[in-house]
Amino acid sequence: MYIFAPVLQDNAFTLDIELHFAGNAGGWVELELPSRWANQERLYENIRDLRPLSAGTRLEDTAKPSIKIVRHIPNRPVQLRYRLVQNWKGELIQNTYLRPILQKDYFQMVGVNFLVHPVWDNDKPLTLQLEWASVPTGWTLADSFGRFAAVRSVQTSLRKLFESLFIGGDFRLLQRRIDSQPVEVAIRGRWPFSDDQFADLAIRILKTERQLFKDNDFPQYLISVIPTEDKPGSLAGTGLTNAFAAYLAPGTKLEADLKQLLAHEMLHAWNPQKFGRLAQPEESMYWFSEGFTDYYAREVLVRAGLMSFAEYTESVNRLLRDYFASPVRDAGNARIRKEFWSNTAMQKLPYLRGSLLALNWNAEILQSSRGRSSLDDVMRSLLAAARQQPGVLDSQRVSRAVEPFIGRDVMPDIGRFIESGTILKTRTDALGSCADLEPTEPKADGKQTLPQFHLRSAVSDCRR
Ligand SMILES: [Zn+2]
Repeated sequence: MYIFAPVLQDNAFTLDIELHFAGNAGGWVELELPSRWANQERLYENIRDLRPLSAGTRLEDTAKPSIKIVRHIPNRPVQLRYRLVQNWKGELIQNTYLRPILQKDYFQMVGVNFLVHPVWDNDKPLTLQLEWASVPTGWTLADSFGRFAAVRSVQTSLRKLFESLFIGGDFRLLQRRIDSQPVEVAIRGRWPFSDDQFADLAIRILKTERQLFKDNDFPQYLISVIPTEDKPGSLAGTGLTNAFAAYLAPGTKLEADLKQLLAHEMLHAWNPQKFGRLAQPEESMYWFSEGFTDYYAREVLVRAGLMSFAEYTESVNRLLRDYFASPVRDAGNARIRKEFWSNTAMQKLPYLRGSLLALNWNAEILQSSRGRSSLDDVMRSLLAAARQQPGVLDSQRVSRAVEPFIGRDVMPDIGRFIESGTILKTRTDALGSCADLEPTEPKADGKQTLPQFHLRSAVSDCRR
C-alpha cells in the first residue's frame, strides 16, 4: 500500500509517501529505491528522509545506494516513509523530464522513477492499495489505474507498477471512450490546437490500433500532454502501463510529427508490453520493439486516414535515405547494445533496420499467401501466444510467429540483418503495386545511389 500526502510549502511541491507491506517470516527483506530509467541515473537522489514507522523496524545500507535491507519483526506489518522531491533545477527538457517532476502547479511521475518497493517477484500479481491523504484544491489527479478516487485497490504487478504514470495539478481532463472502454486525456499548457482536437486525433489513432490487434481489452487508458522547454519542434513520448506521456515543445502543431509520435507510442501497449518481457539486454530487441513499431505507426496513420499514400511513400523514402546515410548502418547488434545510449546514430539504427525488415517480411507474406495474410497476422499471433503462454519476447519468439505465415524460418534473416548488420535490401514490391523502387542498379559512374520509391502515376486507390 502507498499513501501519498502532497506538501505545498514555500512555492514548492513535495510528496510524502508511506509504504506499508506485510512482513515475512524471515524478518528481513531487500528494499529497492529508484535507480535507473531510460537516460536517467541515480534516481534515488529524489528520495529523502527514508525511515521506518513501524515498531521494531530498521533500515540498513548496502554497498549499492539503491538497495537497503529492512529488518522487521517476523510476520508483522512494515511501514516506511519517505519524501519525494524534485532534485533538479532549471529547464524542463529531455535531460530532466524523465525524472520526477514536482512543480508548484503540477506533478508527473512514472513508477520506476519514484516508488520505493520491497524486492519481490516482478511478475507476481499484486493487489495494491493507493491512497491520497489529501488533494490540493482545484487539482486534477489521474494515473494508469483508471478513474481517480482518493482510496483505490488496484490489481497490478511490480513490473506494471514500474511503468505506470501518475499525474496531478492544473491538467485539463477529458473523458472519452472507445467502444465503451474509457480513455482519459490530460493536457496542460496552451497549444495551437484545442484539447478536443487533440483528444479526437488520439482516439482515432488508438481505435485504429485496437482494430489492428483486434484487441479492445483496456479497462483504462491515460494520455498525458505536458509542455517542455525544449527547442521548437522537439517532441517525445513514452508508452507506459495503460498510458502514454507526451512531452511537447511549445508551439507544437497537430501535424505529421505529432501524429507519428502518438501512433508509435500507443503501439507500445502491444509491442512489447502485451507481447511479453523483452529479452535482456533489451537494446538487443529494439529492432523489433522499436523498428516494427515504427513500421506500424505509418501503417496505422494510413489506415486511420491521417496520411495519404503519397505521404506514406515519402516517409518510407526518408527511412531509406536515413538508413543508407547512417554512418553505423552495418553495425552489429552487439555494438547497438553497447553504444545505444551514447551514440545518436546508433540509437536510430534499430528503428530504421526493424522498419525495413518489417516492410520486407510483410511483402513476402503477402506474396507467398497470395494476399491472404500479412504481417498483421503475425502481430495478432504474437498477442495470442503471449496470452496463452506469457514469457520472454526474444528473436526466437518473433521468428516462431512469422514462420507459419511466411513459410520459412526467418532466424537466418535476423542473424544476418540484425545480429551481423549486413545491409538490408528493400524488396521492390515492398509498397505493393502502387510504387516502384528505383533505381535498383548502381549508377554508371560507380557512385552509390539511394533506392527510392516512385508512385506509379496511373494507379488510383492506393490504400495499404
Ligand atoms: Zn518507441
